[in-house]
Amino acid sequence: MQLQNVRVLGPAGLSPPTSVAINAAGAADRDASGLILSPGWLDLHAHLRDPGFLHKETLQTGATSAAFGGFTHIVAMANTDPVIDRPELLRELVARAAALPIGVSFVAAVTMGLEGRSLTDAAALRRAGAVALSDDGRHLMDQATLRRALTAAAEAGLPVLIHAQIERLGKGPESEAAAVTQALEAVESVPGARLHIQHVSTHAAVELIRTAKRHRLLVTAEATPHHLALTAQDVTALGPHGAVNPPLRSVDDRDALRLALAEGVIDAIATDHAPHDVGAKAAGANGFHGFETALPVVMGLGLDERVLYRACVERPREIIGQSIDDEWILIDPAAEWIVDGSSFKSRGKNTPFAGRRLRGRIVMTLCHGQVVMERVMQHA
Ligand SMILES: [Zn+2]
Ligand SMILES: [Zn+2]
Repeated sequence: MQLQNVRVLGPAGLSPPTSVAINAAGAADRDASGLILSPGWLDLHAHLRDPGFLHKETLQTGATSAAFGGFTHIVAMANTDPVIDRPELLRELVARAAALPIGVSFVAAVTMGLEGRSLTDAAALRRAGAVALSDDGRHLMDQATLRRALTAAAEAGLPVLIHAQIERLGKGPESEAAAVTQALEAVESVPGARLHIQHVSTHAAVELIRTAKRHRLLVTAEATPHHLALTAQDVTALGPHGAVNPPLRSVDDRDALRLALAEGVIDAIATDHAPHDVGAKAAGANGFHGFETALPVVMGLGLDERVLYRACVERPREIIGQSIDDEWILIDPAAEWIVDGSSFKSRGKNTPFAGRRLRGRIVMTLCHGQVVMERVMQHA
């Protein structure tokens, strides 16, 4: 497919309008004036609920939803039922994922059953296809267990992703800061260990990570679109739809995250896509749909395009050791739409952005020469 007059997002930002040929079976050449071509985005943090909670999401519905959101590769967390803590289950999931329209990789648990006690077999899980280890959703490891986990993961060549929250300290900012402090101490004592901090939400955690990076610790971090865009002030209006873990924070925390992202202290943007059925959400379940609103929410932050590329394309791949593999998205940055969760391809329909007018939409997603989604755009 030949695209004319398209601007291309790359490490140096946005190119001037140019002509680009991309591998796309059967897709007609087109004038792409006003559109942006980007390598597909990679989401380091998604909950696909498969196996165990198929009424909330499946590999298939999650992958389709992600493709509609502009992700050509997503990374699924291990808090399924059963937990992804054994190579046999992981091999089954990897085999099923091969048939999906986009790339789906898996994180395996750090500890059996996410219970924080006995370690999983990092080397065997790596051989079965795990791209990282994480007990996301739980944070029960004591310091000695975390150090052993970092050692085993380093020997297996995998990063450890942590949901930085000390459960007995609750969900306040001090709980995140304490968990980050402990994790940084642990990684400092284990040569070669790589630590990735998930959904950083507080100013205090940002400062700890900034200092750790200055001391050249092998630490990376992500922030979610909702923590970058919303604050606790939005929670009142959102009711149960604002329930998320970590919670939405103060304006100061949000601003610190945005600055950290611009500086590269926060490496990546990751959705923490956490779909729930209507009943569970009304009853207070934490988390919400992330895939189909992420791109316009992130583009609405007004980031420098080089930062956008780094946070959504480049760093997520570096963190799990993937390269860009013939995967593209075509974006209409001017398309405005009103968020209606019932239209999502995901089984998770609840979103804190319901009813908002967002700017920016995926026109087409291409993976390995196949058009995996195309939206007919209505232009005013
Ligand atoms: Zn988490
Ligand atoms: Zn999560």
